[in-house]
Amino acid sequence: MDTERLHTDIKSHLRDDPVSTKHLDNQSDRTWTRTSDSLLRHSGHIYVPDLGNLRLHVLQYLHNHPLAGHYGQAKTLYSVRRQYYWPGLPAFVKEYCKMCTTCSSAKPVCHRHYGLLKQLPIPEKLWNSILLDFIEKLPTSSGHDSILVVVDRLSKQALFIPTHVTITREGHGSTPGCHQPYPYPYPSGVLPLARVDGSDGSMFEE
Ligand SMILES: [Zn+2]
Repeated sequence: MDTERLHTDIKSHLRDDPVSTKHLDNQSDRTWTRTSDSLLRHSGHIYVPDLGNLRLHVLQYLHNHPLAGHYGQAKTLYSVRRQYYWPGLPAFVKEYCKMCTTCSSAKPVCHRHYGLLKQLPIPEKLWNSILLDFIEKLPTSSGHDSILVVVDRLSKQALFIPTHVTITREGHGSTPGCHQPYPYPYPSGVLPLARVDGSDGSMFEE
């Protein structure tokens, strides 16, 4: 839509809008003027009636037009305010920009790039790489309410160690019944079970 067509539409709707009708009939308020081009202006800015999607057309012209370039809320508001006026204009512009599908699809990515799926290295020996998880909040039995599950990634052999939900790394070794001897006490790789994706052992790279 070009400006000439837009202004012709605005003029043709001035008598249908209660605000413009009031100021056309009563020109005691000096902030409103009827100019020689037959437009009604408020403080020099063209009043746009709330009819026939005229306000929407103004935004389409000053935001979506190839020359307008889908600027953000502040620049769009500045551009509209420079020429036009209607009550609640800032809120209208804000809502319009928020709903603009072109703007929302062109938003910059603000988060880190997602990692690629990466195969975990195959363990070279038994109990060299283990998976850990807890089965928690079970009915208490002999002072234990949880089970620490330790799985060897190579053999899939699992150890089920009674423990309690408040266990700490330091407390694990001193808890009665929790001194299950691992074949290798210091495995080179310990992974939480929950991070493993499926049976192939793949996980997301950091
Ligand atoms: Zn936009």
